[in-house]
Amino acid sequence: MRTITHWIGGKPVSGSSTRTGPVWNPATGEQQAEVVLAGAEDLDAAVRTAQAAFERWSQSSLSQRSKILFAFRELVNARTQELAEVIADEHGKVVSDARGEVQRGLEVVEFACGIPTLLKGGYSDQVSTGVDVFSFRQPLGVCAGITPFNFPIMVPMWMHPVAIACGNTFVLKPSERDPSASLLVAELWAEAGLPEGVFNVVQGDKEAVDALLDHPGVAAVSFVGSTPIAKYIHRRGTANGKRVQALGGAKNHAIVLPDAPIDYASDHLVAAAFGSAGERCMAISAAVAVGSAADELVAAVSDKARAVKVGPGRDPDSEMGPVVTRAARDRIVGLIGTGEQQGARLTVDGRGLSVPGHENGFFVGPTVIDDVTTEMDVYREEIFGPVLSVVRADSVDDAIALINSNPYGNGTAVFTSSGEAARRFQRGVNVGMIGINVPIPVPMAYYSFGGWKDSLFGDKHIHGPEGVSFYTRAKVVTSRWPHVEAASGATYHFPTAN
Ligand code: NAD
Repeated sequence: MRTITHWIGGKPVSGSSTRTGPVWNPATGEQQAEVVLAGAEDLDAAVRTAQAAFERWSQSSLSQRSKILFAFRELVNARTQELAEVIADEHGKVVSDARGEVQRGLEVVEFACGIPTLLKGGYSDQVSTGVDVFSFRQPLGVCAGITPFNFPIMVPMWMHPVAIACGNTFVLKPSERDPSASLLVAELWAEAGLPEGVFNVVQGDKEAVDALLDHPGVAAVSFVGSTPIAKYIHRRGTANGKRVQALGGAKNHAIVLPDAPIDYASDHLVAAAFGSAGERCMAISAAVAVGSAADELVAAVSDKARAVKVGPGRDPDSEMGPVVTRAARDRIVGLIGTGEQQGARLTVDGRGLSVPGHENGFFVGPTVIDDVTTEMDVYREEIFGPVLSVVRADSVDDAIALINSNPYGNGTAVFTSSGEAARRFQRGVNVGMIGINVPIPVPMAYYSFGGWKDSLFGDKHIHGPEGVSFYTRAKVVTSRWPHVEAASGATYHFPTAN
C-alpha cells in the first residue's frame, strides 16, 4: 500500500506519529493509499522549520520572490494535466473539471507574481514642516492553511502563493481525503527555487489542526471548510492570539425570474448543480423559481439532469464523477429520502445509480427535487452532492427575502432579462458573491473571495487585495532629518503638524 507523507524542510518526511488514514479511489470504492496523520510533534517540527526559514525568506527581495513565483507559475501550467489526474484519482471529479480547478488556482499564482506592485506602500511628503510620513507592509511569520477536500489544488492556492509572496513561510494541512496533490505542489515549489522550509505540508486530521491552532509559532490561520469547523477554528485560533480567516459552508440559491430565457437558465443550473457532483462551495443547490417560470424550469432542468453522463473521473466521456467517500454517498442518499418523506416531489432520482464496471464506486446520480419548502432537511442542510432543490416564490422580493433568511451567504445568482430586477437583487441580497446570469460567480484572483454570515468568520476575504492585507501588517513611519543647527529645544505638548 502506497504511503502518502508530509513535506517538511524541502523533502518528504514520514514523521513520528504512527496513525494513518485510508485514501479511497471514489470511482472504484477501493482503498488506494494510506496517509500519515500527524501528531503534535510532527506539527511542531513543521512549524519550527517554517520559523527558521522565515528568518531568511522574509528578507528576500521582491524581485527574488517574483522570479520564483513566475517559475512556479510556469511549472504549474506545464504540469496541469498531471495535477488534474492526481485530483481526479483521489477526489473523484472528472479530469476536465480538475483542469479548470488548476487553472483557477494558477490565476492566484499569477496575481501573486505582481507582488512588487501589490506591496507598494504610501508616501506623504511634508506632512509637517520638514516631516514626511510613509507606510509599508511586512510579513507576519508562519502562516497556516487548513483546507477542504473539494478543491485540493485551488483552495490551498488561494492561500500559499499570496502568503509566500508577502514574505511569510507556510504550513499547509490539506484534507486527509485527497492529500497527494499538495505533495506534487510542494515538489513544484522546490523545483521553482523556493528555499527549503518556506512551504511545508503536514498531513493529518483534528489532532494536527488542534496542534496548529495552539502552536505559539503560528501567526495566522486561513481555513476553508464546513461551517461548524470554521466557527471552531476561528474561536480557538483567535483565542490563541492568531489572525484567522475561516471560510465556511454554503447553500447557494439561483433565482429564475419569468423573463429569463429558460433554456439558458436551465443549462447553467444543471452545470452549477451537478458539476463536480455538487461538491463545490459555490454549487447551486437551491433554484428559486419565481411565478410562472416554475413548471417550464423544472421540466427543462429535469430533462437535462437525466442526460448527464456519470462515470469515473478518468473517463473523458464522463461529465460527472462519484462523490468523495462512501459515507458522503450514504449521507446524500439519506437526505434525498428525507426530502421525499417530508413531502417534496422527486422529478429525477439519482439513488441506486450503478455505473457499469464501477459498481462499488461512490456514485449518486443527478437528482432534482421540486416543491421543496424551507422547513425540509434537503433545504436546510448543505447536502454537498448532486441534488438540486426547487423552491417556488411569488416575486423577486419574496426570493430575496428567502435568500436573506438563510443562515449562509456565500454565493447566489439571478437569471433574468430585466436590468431593474437584477439591480434590486444585487443590492438586496446579503451574500458576498453574486452572479447575474452567471451561476457560479467565483471572483477572479485580483478580487477577493468570501461569503457573508455563516459562510465566513473573520474580517478578511481570501486572495486578491484582502489576501495581501491578511498576510501582512502595516508600519507607518514619520520621519524628520533636521539640520543640527535647526534644533529647537524640547516641547511638551502633543505633536501636531505645523
Ligand atoms: P471539513 O470542514 O470537514 O474539513 C475541512 C478541514 O478541516 C480539513 O482539513 C479537515 O481535516 C479539518 N477538520 C475536519 N474536522 C475537524 C475537526 N473536528 N477539528 C479540526 N479540524 C477538522 O470540510 P470538507 O468536508 O473537507 O469540505 C467541504 C466543506 O467545505 C463544505 O461545507 C463546503 O461548503 C466548504 N467549502 C467552503 C468553501 C468556501 O470558500 N467558503 C470552499 C470550499 C469548500
